[in-house]
Amino acid sequence: MPALVIVAERLIDGTGRDPVERAAVVIENGLITSAGARASLTFPAGAEVLEDEDLTLLPGFMDMHVHLASSGTNLVRVLMTPPSLALLNSVPNCARTLAAGVTTVRDAGHTPVGVRLASEAGYFPAPRMELAVSLLSQTGGHGDDLMPCGARVGLTMGVDVPHGVVDGVDGMRRKVREVLHAGADWIKLCTSGGVLSPGDFPDHAQFSIEEIRVAVEEAAVVGKRVMAHAMSPAGIRNALIAGVTTIEHGCLLDEEGIALMKEKGAYLVPTLVAPGDVIDGAKAGGGGLPPEMIEKAERIVGRHRAAVSAAIAAGVKVAMGTDAAVGPHGTNLRELGLMVRCGMTPMQAIVASTTVPAELLRRADLGALEPGRLADVVAVRGDPLADIDSLAKPEHIRLVIKEGRVARDFRGSSLAAHSSSGSSPRAAS
Ligand SMILES: [Zn+2]
Repeated sequence: MPALVIVAERLIDGTGRDPVERAAVVIENGLITSAGARASLTFPAGAEVLEDEDLTLLPGFMDMHVHLASSGTNLVRVLMTPPSLALLNSVPNCARTLAAGVTTVRDAGHTPVGVRLASEAGYFPAPRMELAVSLLSQTGGHGDDLMPCGARVGLTMGVDVPHGVVDGVDGMRRKVREVLHAGADWIKLCTSGGVLSPGDFPDHAQFSIEEIRVAVEEAAVVGKRVMAHAMSPAGIRNALIAGVTTIEHGCLLDEEGIALMKEKGAYLVPTLVAPGDVIDGAKAGGGGLPPEMIEKAERIVGRHRAAVSAAIAAGVKVAMGTDAAVGPHGTNLRELGLMVRCGMTPMQAIVASTTVPAELLRRADLGALEPGRLADVVAVRGDPLADIDSLAKPEHIRLVIKEGRVARDFRGSSLAAHSSSGSSPRAAS
């Protein structure tokens, strides 16, 4: 690959340092080799130089909670979608996510490892991904797909995704091993009820501390960690005591939970857009969700934002996540505007979407525009520090580069497929 140079009005490196005016980033062999003030950089001979009006350079964004193989919350639509189509929907879902400037995701369940293997083989453009594969839930819990009518809605795609309902310490140990065998990078547990589950409420705790602890232990044996869908104070507390790494949603996080998060060094992944997306989806999709689920979402929005605001004010580590699938894929960066409305500065929201997730994933090679890191670079029109919501406008995302390859180019505004290496998918390791 020839060297690539992107020249811009300003550069925000993702570390929280002040922006650099009249900047550039130099990319060689998939790595950033230099970044900073244009005048201080030497461009390699023969490099391709890209430049446009009023651009800001940023690291590729990282969304720590998506569901790439799921598309929307309309239950009727789910019932009428064959598993093979549901799985293939992850192809456009991945493309939209990448085109939005999100170059890395953590998938919180229902996406089989084949999606990652196929994208790594270059079959379709996609963000880099770590997967939870299954979503583990107690019987009757948030992830139990048995509907009141007696039908299973097949939230698990039936393709390489172990069924996630599990009870008891021994059951959990075996189930976690099964999910790890299916290629999971993370173990996802539901330690509270939720909005889109018919039989429970967000205020309920689910799984015992002993069940959660054995999941954490089994994952740790192979160097992996646990993420917990946790809304209720007790569900959050149990998860933290048992040693999970991230609290997803955290809608009803209280003072005790905030203190425990800080003590444990756990991360909050707020998914602030999700409850509103449930409500919007129900309105736009002509129904498809029973009124009691919409009511649950409506009841939680205000409490959710208050809880996240309190966590931000207290200095809890926050990593950006959206629950994309509940809302449309590729609209991930709306979350930054909501994080700012919950008390972050625009710079903090950018850091929470770049270097904080990189630290969460223990990927020192991602997250910042610094020499030696992988070249995940996004160029947006305008200054996101002046207008954070501009990031959510697709026309503002002008250039997306993942590991040195251009995935979206403002000159054609088209999404180029990765050139296939012609190799077969890498086997699950
Ligand atoms: Zn989710």
